[in-house]
Amino acid sequence: MSEYDCIIIGGGVAALSGALYLGRYQRKALLLADTIGGQTAIAGTIENYPGFESINGADLISKIKSQVLKLKSTQIEEGVKIESLSEASGSFEIKGNDKTYRAKSVLIATGKRHRKLGLDGEGELTGKGVSYCATCDGPFAKGKKAVVVGGGNSAVEATQILSKVADRVYLVNINEKLSGEKVRIEQIESDKKIEILPQTTLVRLLTDNKTLSGVRIKNRNGNESMLECQMIFIEIGWIPNSETFAQIVNLNEEKEIIIDPKTNQTSQRGIFAAGDITDVPAKQIVVAAGEGAKAAIAINQFLENLD
Ligand SMILES: Cc1cc2nc3c(=O)[nH]c(=O)nc-3n(C[C@H](O)[C@H](O)[C@H](O)COP(=O)(O)OP(=O)(O)OC[C@H]3O[C@@H](n4cnc5c(N)ncnc54)[C@H](O)[C@@H]3O)c2cc1C
Repeated sequence: MSEYDCIIIGGGVAALSGALYLGRYQRKALLLADTIGGQTAIAGTIENYPGFESINGADLISKIKSQVLKLKSTQIEEGVKIESLSEASGSFEIKGNDKTYRAKSVLIATGKRHRKLGLDGEGELTGKGVSYCATCDGPFAKGKKAVVVGGGNSAVEATQILSKVADRVYLVNINEKLSGEKVRIEQIESDKKIEILPQTTLVRLLTDNKTLSGVRIKNRNGNESMLECQMIFIEIGWIPNSETFAQIVNLNEEKEIIIDPKTNQTSQRGIFAAGDITDVPAKQIVVAAGEGAKAAIAINQFLENLD
């Protein structure tokens, strides 16, 4: 089995930036990802990435990917889900769904995924009325009634996106008050298409012919009622994709990988991490790109010390 200088796990902006920097150091690096793009690919229009007044997230990813692929020493393998990472005689063994890889160092950049409600039928209805991304699926709510679940910035943003296309939008919030940007909250509070339901929980998803037809909700007094809707957008937070690595690196209470802020090294020598998977508080594209680059610089230094 050939040994790589570094294996990068992940396909988002942090992983791609790491690959770009390692490629420029002419390190034998391999990026393994289930899919390329991560959250940036579904972010829609991005207006806070330096150098671009406005750019579509998927376009930004394809630009970085083609920049990486120009570098001969770095390869990308897509469709590979990493299932384990362990140390074996001074290097690291990385098991994918159908292949095992070996490397002198590892960069984990696996980001995060949407938290689910855990209601019966949620999995089967995903794509048939249940969505976790208003930016991606908002247009499907055109002329329909939509429910958004959540009470933070993402839920508020999703509600705004949907009010532009849907006939009616209900925002179901378990808490009394919404949190996030005040300006946005005021905008949705004054939008006649939107009804905010505070201290309300979702009890059940209702179906008709295997597609979503409504939801059962419970209000602050414990009274249940039915809301007719054809789409529901779940915006209740994120879970770091760190389970696979919990045996080998230290995680914080939020299950994020703890890194040394100077070098991006984890608690395990030779394993580095970057982007939303880490305990770095700012979860932004430009930060993930910078952290990927910073980690790669430290990895190159680590490899020089081994050489
Ligand atoms: C809808 C939306 C809009 C946003 N808008 C903006 C914005 O306008 N501006 C901004 O700065 N930020 C925005 N963000 C946040 C930004 O997109 C993230 O902070 C950034 O993309 C994080 O990048 P990352 O590479 O760390 O992780 P991710 O983008 O989460 O990428 C992680 C990658 O790892 C892969 N992966 C995970 N586990 C495994 C595994 N076991 N094996 C193989 N591969 C794996 C995933 O498939 C994915 O490709 C937005 C996010 C969303 C969801």
